[in-house]
Amino acid sequence: IGSCTDITERRQVEAILRTHSEALVRSNADLEQFAYSVSHDMRQPLRTIAGHLHLLELGLAEQLDEDNKESLAFALDGAKRMDAMIVSLLDYSRIGRKTEPKIYMEPRESLNEALQFLEVEIEEKRADIVVQGDWPVLSASRDELTRLLQNLIANAIKYHDSEDVPHVTVVSTEHAGLWTVRIADNGIGIEPKQIDKLFQFFSRLQSRARFDGNGMGLALCRRIVEHHGGRIWAESEGEGKGSTFVFEIPLAQNETPD
Ligand code: ADP
Repeated sequence: IGSCTDITERRQVEAILRTHSEALVRSNADLEQFAYSVSHDMRQPLRTIAGHLHLLELGLAEQLDEDNKESLAFALDGAKRMDAMIVSLLDYSRIGRKTEPKIYMEPRESLNEALQFLEVEIEEKRADIVVQGDWPVLSASRDELTRLLQNLIANAIKYHDSEDVPHVTVVSTEHAGLWTVRIADNGIGIEPKQIDKLFQFFSRLQSRARFDGNGMGLALCRRIVEHHGGRIWAESEGEGKGSTFVFEIPLAQNETPD
């Protein structure tokens, strides 16, 4: 007695899947190369523009009237801002490629490092930072986690009315194979319908006159969390009600270090 199964269709589907996944790998590599070239190669001409604008500013200081001086200053500021945006894109394209590989580590150490980097801001604003919960050991890229925590805590300190004293809580929990961190502040809050926009490239809700920044911090955070197989989101009841940024990363996904 024998049995015979026709697997022609399965083989065809497998071949199609293989072709698609090869195409996907190629297109990802192309995109990475594109992001790298755009950000790397465009900086050089931009630096030339900024450098010469600066020379013009110095050379023409005596001859220019106030309006023309202002125009030159705007042009120089624009070139500098564009350079900062390009540097952020370069940083973005480096996540997972040029960052530290994943190793077993204690994210609590990344938090300590992030708080050290933020020492000046914390002192200036007399911010009160409370750290709570259980901090697990997991496989992660150390510099990426430091960056993630630093960006989120920096925002929690920054987005306040000037007279406010920032109160920030950082709570870590481990449950059902997920590591979750909630960073809550008592700051200016976010209109709920604006929340989805925050994680996009160069997305900002406030003017640069009120809060400095280029809107890439949260896009970078999302990229880091996704590189660790997790997700990130924000919660707020509205303006003036504070905000909470939450990310969760599966522990199991990271059992095999890079
Ligand atoms: P940046 O701070 O450089 O503008 P981000 O990507 O870090 O860029 O943040 C994007 C926008 O999200 C900010 O411009 C701000 O409008 C909003 N935002 C981020 N964090 C907070 C927070 N803790 N409270 C209120 N708004 C925030």
